[in-house]
Amino acid sequence: MYVILLGLPGAGKGTQAANLAETTGLSHITTGELFRDHIYRRGTELGRKAKPYYEAGKLVPDELTIGMLRERIAGPDCALGCLFDGFPRTLEQAEALDEALAERGAAVDRVVYIKVAEEELVRRLAGRWNCRQCGAVYHEASSPPQRPGVCDRCGGELYQREDDKPEVVRQRLEVNLRELGKLLDYYEGRVVEVDGQQDIDGVGREILAVISPS
Ligand code: ADP
Ligand code: ADP
Ligand code: ZN
Repeated sequence: MYVILLGLPGAGKGTQAANLAETTGLSHITTGELFRDHIYRRGTELGRKAKPYYEAGKLVPDELTIGMLRERIAGPDCALGCLFDGFPRTLEQAEALDEALAERGAAVDRVVYIKVAEEELVRRLAGRWNCRQCGAVYHEASSPPQRPGVCDRCGGELYQREDDKPEVVRQRLEVNLRELGKLLDYYEGRVVEVDGQQDIDGVGREILAVISPS
């Protein structure tokens, strides 16, 4: 089962994918987190090339992104399928994903669009905290950790992302709006829209209903 979660930054893709990965056993693949791993944790060659784009809130070139994703979906933990969060972001990536899955005798099974209004996105991103170690996502108001600055899941240090600053957020939303429109066209007829402005559990229940085989 291959599921794509679409939505603007802050829509809740990461939060929902992490919860769904636990309930469904599918692997959670998040390109943002993959980049952070390559850039800050492992300092790979790919990370070095992606860093300037990442830090400016711009899309990393398709060639780098697609190569990284192909390697990731070949991992043994993806045998049952996965939840894509933050990928694809461009038509070229969408086409490359269809191709890569076809080579494995698979296809995209569900596309879920998590819809949230822009003012709410800015509010969510301004209060977002991520775990440096495991990537878990918190919000200082709507889902705070038990101890400020410390991850409930792994005890890791929480930090606010460089690209969640208001100046960069605006740039990211602009880039993403353009790309999202094209992706919604590409997946037309296959997309199911979910109301992302419910509480976290409410959104989760709606997505689970969409991806559960009927
Ligand atoms: P995305 O992966 O789409 O960028 P995240 O999952 O990182 O979004 O969520 C962005 C921020 O909003 C986080 O701080 C998260 O805790 C918070 N958040 C996620 N879903 C909800 C929700 N349904 N209601 C309120 N806050 C939410
Ligand atoms: P958010 O969770 O707010 O949607 P991400 O963590 O997904 O943000 O992405 C952070 C940054 O990583 C983006 O601004 C971009 O530089 C890079 N990135 C993430 N996904 C992709 C992708 N599919 N293609 C190109 N660049 C990407
Ligand atoms: Zn953690």
